[in-house]
Amino acid sequence: MANPEHATRIRSGLLACTISTLPRTGVLKVTPPDLARSEELRSQAVDRLLLRLDELYDAVTRALESQSLRPVGNGCGACYTCCTAEGLSAHHVHDLEHLAIARRLGTALGNAFRAYVERQRDDAGEYLYRVCPFHTAPSSAEGTGGCGLYAHRPYSCRVFGHRHLSGTRLPDHCVYEGRSVEVPQSLYFSGLPSALAFRDLQRTYSALVSPDGEESTVAEALASLRANAIFGDPLDMGVMATLEGRLDDARRWFLEAAASSPESAWPHFYAGTLHDLGRQTEAAAEAYRRAVAIEASNPRFFLHLGFCELELERYDEARRCFSRVIDLNPHDSNAQGFLGYLLLAIEPARALDHLEVASTLDGANPFFALRLGEALVRTGRIDDAREPLCRAAADARSAREAHELLRAVEPPPDAVDLERQSDL
Ligand code: SF4
Ligand code: SF4
Repeated sequence: MANPEHATRIRSGLLACTISTLPRTGVLKVTPPDLARSEELRSQAVDRLLLRLDELYDAVTRALESQSLRPVGNGCGACYTCCTAEGLSAHHVHDLEHLAIARRLGTALGNAFRAYVERQRDDAGEYLYRVCPFHTAPSSAEGTGGCGLYAHRPYSCRVFGHRHLSGTRLPDHCVYEGRSVEVPQSLYFSGLPSALAFRDLQRTYSALVSPDGEESTVAEALASLRANAIFGDPLDMGVMATLEGRLDDARRWFLEAAASSPESAWPHFYAGTLHDLGRQTEAAAEAYRRAVAIEASNPRFFLHLGFCELELERYDEARRCFSRVIDLNPHDSNAQGFLGYLLLAIEPARALDHLEVASTLDGANPFFALRLGEALVRTGRIDDAREPLCRAAADARSAREAHELLRAVEPPPDAVDLERQSDL
């Protein structure tokens, strides 16, 4: 089994090959790392996603207005059966929505809502929020009561009631009873307005804020997918098949996902990971390029394309890809480490900048320590190089090369003896 989200070559393969295999000339097309600038770019990318989220909410409202028999605004009125910890079963709120709510209404309310959605309990086992903190009572100054968050209401709250999935039922006495449209589970993305675009937006946000190096295990990824997957969605089914080792099934699902959602980059990305697993690097690169062509603001796509370009010895391309990842997510230790690695033979001073960042972000990675040590040697900082090289020497995967470098930087015994004699 393999986790398609993993960059499996990160810690074991590419960084272990020797620098001498890299070209010593090349056109340098990257600028030194500028974390402040990168942070700004990433924050702009997140802002764009939040704007897109608003557009999607408007699109959902328009779609529901044209098809629903209930008002789309606060259609539940004062009823709040679903707005309780016990009534939350259909309530999934993604991090991007939490961010949007916290930005608009403040961190304190945002945190309260998250505690409610996650059904957090106090020491006595009671829910911290049995009723959604955004629900306003009928007698309150806000008017008739109901959802006090309508304009920013999360996706699941928006569509529930107007739509319900086959096999589920609305609560007793629900005002939507007899007016709700039933959607088969297998048609989730076509039956629920903007569901597909919404899912892709969430995935892109995750890629922007979660470093690719933070890998979940296959078991964790499967557990999370089984809890959240939409049965019948070809993309979710393909990822699940990959995790379960059914690669032919996965291939078929990803083809179906690409055909049914030509606007989505993710089927191409996951198809690329499948090619990667089969060691078909050229085909994987092609698939990642298709993903990048559709969605150019996703660092994860560029990272995986960068690995392929490096394996295919297209070093300028690889440098461009890792550089682009850093533009979008400066906290991606792998992009920092690999860009530093690729610059070692050409621009050791610039390589050093990136490897220092990579090593700070992922201090446990022996290859980053090894390459940081090498960059320090190449830039004449021999004394500083010993500490990272000793760290790399302590790990079996990088020990041989680290010891070679340490031997090269230690003064020969004769020189030490002469030094001692001159001290006497
Ligand atoms: S956000 Fe609004 S609709 Fe959703 S649970 Fe809270 S009060 Fe209810
Ligand atoms: S969906 Fe129905 S039961 Fe749930 S809060 Fe709205 S009106 Fe009440």
